[in-house]
Amino acid sequence: MSVNKVDVAIIGGGVHGCSTAYHLAQKGFKVALFERDYLTSGGTGRCAAGIRLQFGTEANCLLAQYNIKCFKTMDQDLGFPITIEYDPAGYMWIAYTEPQAQLLQRNVAFQNSLGSPTRYLTPAEIKELAPHVNTEGMLGASFCQEDGHVNPHTVTFAYANAAEKLGAEIHKKTPVTGLIVKNGKAAGVHTTKGDWEADAVVVCAGAWSVEVAKWAGFDLPITPERHQVLITEPVERMKHPMVLCLDDGSYWKQCPNGTFYMGWDNPLDEHDTEYIVNWHFLHEVSTRIVAKMPLMAGIRVVRQWSGPYDITPDKQAIVGESPMKGLFLDCGWSGHGFQFGPSVGRVMAELVNNEKPFVDVSVFRYSRFAENDLFFEPFCI
Ligand SMILES: Cc1cc2nc3c(=O)[nH]c(=O)nc-3n(C[C@H](O)[C@H](O)[C@H](O)COP(=O)(O)OP(=O)(O)OC[C@H]3O[C@@H](n4cnc5c(N)ncnc54)[C@H](O)[C@@H]3O)c2cc1C
Repeated sequence: MSVNKVDVAIIGGGVHGCSTAYHLAQKGFKVALFERDYLTSGGTGRCAAGIRLQFGTEANCLLAQYNIKCFKTMDQDLGFPITIEYDPAGYMWIAYTEPQAQLLQRNVAFQNSLGSPTRYLTPAEIKELAPHVNTEGMLGASFCQEDGHVNPHTVTFAYANAAEKLGAEIHKKTPVTGLIVKNGKAAGVHTTKGDWEADAVVVCAGAWSVEVAKWAGFDLPITPERHQVLITEPVERMKHPMVLCLDDGSYWKQCPNGTFYMGWDNPLDEHDTEYIVNWHFLHEVSTRIVAKMPLMAGIRVVRQWSGPYDITPDKQAIVGESPMKGLFLDCGWSGHGFQFGPSVGRVMAELVNNEKPFVDVSVFRYSRFAENDLFFEPFCI
């Protein structure tokens, strides 16, 4: 039987796997990506796809600047026939308590020091930018006009399509079942459709990366956390940025097709990767968001679903080589990872190619957990 042989095998067909495949193929690597179901079937296709410059740590802010730059020209750059819908409608993080207001103000100053054009808004300015929002109880907000929305499906398909045009193999409905290990080094993958030998393996398996690490003999400190969201019928487009409320973690945005997307941090949701939804969420999210934006009261809900966050102890990703040589990690994105597809796909290709990454990502190294050198991301829920 002939042996399949590539330079790099990628596990996972979310935005990170597909972007990594594209960036590696651009460098001339022979790549094979394996997705056990369909592309975007994991966190990527279930997320709110909010994109933002607003983060609270330097590495995330610098990577975020690159992400937004890519989204702006992605339709032309990747040449996919369906738009990624980049919509800079803005993104608002709203404070309800003094400590939250102070945190947002500090973060705005920090983001400005790195060149991101975020600003702090008074309640009157919130009303001006989001006229339908009930500002009762709001003390202020951080805001960035360049932030907003893209379509997570078309972004991922655009990367996969561009990677395939450059010669990458994209294997859908092909679960990876184990690692090929030679002399203690990752040397390929076992899949349901045969074995692929490879010089390097990149793990982009989201919340399921924990299983892959176990095959390599180490543990990843990633806990899955189920999060639910819903989408409404389309209504007329209104002046409305994405809004996230720090009092209860509720958020909503209007997509370019007029639908509203709503989420809420439900403390009762289980820590698992099951795709389960319930009435409790539907009732809570709609009651809370209607109170914050009364205009929503008459809009009908079309669909509700859930997806897993892959949470690490400091809510920061794990990026870089793993304890097993040849096995690279890109996981643990803790609920804000979709938007990092462009920048971290590039970083992964640079790491595999033994280049210095364009942004220093050493803070995301796996060994920080053993070294007790965590770096908390304050700008996430
Ligand atoms: C409700 C919700 C809202 C969110 N909102 C946002 C947001 O507004 N902005 C943002 O940036 N992020 C958001 N996120 C987070 C975002 O979805 C994730 O961080 C991001 O999609 C992770 O992408 P990924 O490619 O690393 O993983 P995933 O998209 O999860 O992809 C991993 C893939 O690996 C596959 N896989 C697993 N095991 C195997 C195997 N053994 N063999 C082959 N394939 C395998 C899975 O099927 C899956 O498709 C949200 C997440 C949720 C759940």
